[in-house]
Amino acid sequence: MNYFSEQIVWQEVPGEVSLAFTISGCPLACPGCHSAASWPATAGQPLTPDYFSSRLQQYQGLLTCVLFMGGEWLMDELLLLLRLARAARLKTCLYTGLDEVPESLKPWLTYAKTGPWRRELGGLEAPGTNQVFTDLRTGACLNHQFHQ
Ligand code: SF4
Repeated sequence: MNYFSEQIVWQEVPGEVSLAFTISGCPLACPGCHSAASWPATAGQPLTPDYFSSRLQQYQGLLTCVLFMGGEWLMDELLLLLRLARAARLKTCLYTGLDEVPESLKPWLTYAKTGPWRRELGGLEAPGTNQVFTDLRTGACLNHQFHQ
């Protein structure tokens, strides 16, 4: 598994300070994708368990969540990282272009954004979006928290 970018984000997961990784190799090829440069699986740098753990250690006490933008196409590797995040007592979120979160990931995720990018419908801030942000602990849709 390679990651294309890594950053601390405040708005992508409401109420959480998240360490976000954009995972390389998304196979969905949504027209208008704003991270098309991350489509090649070899783009970016390896996201090894050791590297991931070192980042969690470095940010200890500052983060509340880890966000994976993609990666569900490398299920076993993603599960390992989710387990490490949970062991560090962090919440977890997946942004996926799939309409459903794969069942095997659900026990390890606190939140998920589902649905492919459709330019004409807009993102989570758009009232008519096809995308859904869900608190998987309760099943509640949190899209309203993205409206301005
Ligand atoms: S799911 Fe996301 S990363 Fe993948 S092609 Fe669609 S917009 Fe791009």
